[in-house]
Amino acid sequence: MKTIGLLGGMSWESTQTYYRLINEGVKSRLGGLHSAKLVLFSVDFAEIEALQHKGDWPATADILSGAALSVQKAGADFLVIGTNTMHKVAPEIGQAIQIPLLHIADATAEVLKRDGVSRVGLLGTRFTMEQAFYRERLEAAGIDVLTPDEPQRDEVHRVIYEELCRGEIRSDSRHAYMDIVSSLSGRGAQAVILGCTEIGLLISQADTDVPLYDTTEIHAAHAVELALAHP
Ligand code: GLU
Repeated sequence: MKTIGLLGGMSWESTQTYYRLINEGVKSRLGGLHSAKLVLFSVDFAEIEALQHKGDWPATADILSGAALSVQKAGADFLVIGTNTMHKVAPEIGQAIQIPLLHIADATAEVLKRDGVSRVGLLGTRFTMEQAFYRERLEAAGIDVLTPDEPQRDEVHRVIYEELCRGEIRSDSRHAYMDIVSSLSGRGAQAVILGCTEIGLLISQADTDVPLYDTTEIHAAHAVELALAHP
């Protein structure tokens, strides 16, 4: 089994989900008492969040590149960054290390293509929904990306930082998200990407007929596959 490197803490609410899903995945593949070999570097999200909202992405790249190097030194065979938003600086992090980086948008695009989805709605932070770094990976795979309108994007972003990353799960926010999922579907999205690693804490497939693609689940499953792949 290869050792998974995980950059977490962004937020730790979703890092818990990664840790559980990765271990459940290894257990279901290998059985018995098997569990994942994993090195976790968990950052202080308050520092990252302040830099994000100031637009100081180079400083976030420095912090996460340092963390990635520590994970590599500790013996990780490949790296998983446990947040969609911070893939904005994935190129810088990837350059700082020698081990491969398992990109969350590429993993998601692969699953969407396998399922024949060519037009998808994207929920995430404003950074993920509005900037090119994420959407262009999906578009490069031949997938059209729809994002919510501006007031809806504000609400999706607000709920992520003010509620989900603080462990607060509210039913009024769940309803607001479901309305946004329905409106994306009404505009032609065949499916919706939960493109923020905490959204799966709020909504799930049981809430809607619109197919949902949870990036945390997809990313964790890919990490397990790679960890157990024969060389
Ligand atoms: N976990 C979230 C994401 O997947 C948001 C937190 C962050 O900004 O890293 O984008």
